[in-house]
Amino acid sequence: MDFTESPEHGLLRESVAKLAAKYGHGYFVSKAQSGGKTDELWTEAGQAGFLGVSVPEQFGGGGGGISELAIVCEELAAGGCPLLLIVVSPAICATVITRFGTAAQQARWLPGFADGSLKMAFAITEPDAGSNSHKLTTTARRDGSDWLLTGRKYYISGVDECSHVLVVARTESSGQLRPALFVVPVGSPGFEARPIDMQITSPEKQFTLFLDDVRLPADALVGESPDAGLPALFAGLNPERITVSAYATGIARYALTRGAAYASDRQVWNVPVGAHQGIAHPLAAAKISVELARLMTQKAAWLYDAGQDSAAGEAANIAKYAAAEASIEAVDTAIQAHGGNGMATEYGLATLWGAVRAARIAPVSREMILNFVAQHSLGLPKSY
Ligand SMILES: Cc1cc2nc3c(=O)[nH]c(=O)nc-3n(C[C@H](O)[C@H](O)[C@H](O)COP(=O)(O)OP(=O)(O)OC[C@H]3O[C@@H](n4cnc5c(N)ncnc54)[C@H](O)[C@@H]3O)c2cc1C
Repeated sequence: MDFTESPEHGLLRESVAKLAAKYGHGYFVSKAQSGGKTDELWTEAGQAGFLGVSVPEQFGGGGGGISELAIVCEELAAGGCPLLLIVVSPAICATVITRFGTAAQQARWLPGFADGSLKMAFAITEPDAGSNSHKLTTTARRDGSDWLLTGRKYYISGVDECSHVLVVARTESSGQLRPALFVVPVGSPGFEARPIDMQITSPEKQFTLFLDDVRLPADALVGESPDAGLPALFAGLNPERITVSAYATGIARYALTRGAAYASDRQVWNVPVGAHQGIAHPLAAAKISVELARLMTQKAAWLYDAGQDSAAGEAANIAKYAAAEASIEAVDTAIQAHGGNGMATEYGLATLWGAVRAARIAPVSREMILNFVAQHSLGLPKSY
């Protein structure tokens, strides 16, 4: 076992960190507050190959895996620019199409993921289903060779800046209604996206989608047949959890760096506030939580890239739980170390609160992860 980061990973980390530093948290917050988008940063990250690190080389990508994408996600966040769409577009959508798309779908979509020029949202959550994906009611039915898609989705990130949405819908397959994945152009007839007013400082907004007989061509279905739907969905969910973990630990690192710097400087008695253990210990404890979460995130990414999907599933859930909790602890502790300044926009910490708090809820809630670990890792019975 070797815990030393490879020179390639180190270089990737360094290059992404440099790009993030060029933009910084002030840029991110100003975009969020003005209703703008992080287009300049996204484009530059795409051109540098960072957004396409996990796309196969034959389609113009970096030929890496989720380990590399997690580094990109973490370093942007650690530089104050947590880009939620990385979790969705390259992590879920590009992975699903790489692993389960037809050759024609790969040729059509992957080059855009490779250079970041294509942004695709992902829609599974429904108002009446929530955490219970068995209750999804969005359906796709055949109409000649076309599909007609009807249903409702909520809390779908970034629809206003994406050209397409990868939608999970039930369709009849082998006599049963099973989930299948469809690439849906934003703004198709029958497609409506309404913004949800959120208390999260983020340029990426959330939407409710209304899908009313949206007509799709036969090849909108990802894969050769609807039977590919379930494995394709699972192929995307672990990368999502792993990159959310990287996103959360990146934010946590950013917060702890700010917290430690401020606490080393601010003096209201005769020593810096960070010399008081009441301030130093919570920062140190948060640092420990963050490092443990990073370790599990790296393990989950490694397992996923090694093709060990089942072990990666458990590790990705554990990493997501640990990273969300560690990031909340880190941001909260850094705010506390700042006193009143912790709540001021200028100090760039309260602006991260919504993002880390949401990481405890999405893409899978803390409680559903505890259910998973209780049932799958410990063999406990199920209550629901
Ligand atoms: C910022 C943000 C971005 C998001 N982006 C996307 C996106 O891009 N695409 C997408 O499809 N979805 C997205 N989501 C949705 C997210 O995945 C869901 O919010 C999440 O899965 C929880 O579903 P829910 O909100 O319906 O909560 P519910 O399922 O209604 O759950 C409510 C509460 O009950 C708990 N609960 C439910 N069932 C159980 C149980 N069996 N045992 C114990 N506790 C239980 C939950 O943990 C939760 O605390 C996003 C959400 C947020 C906040």
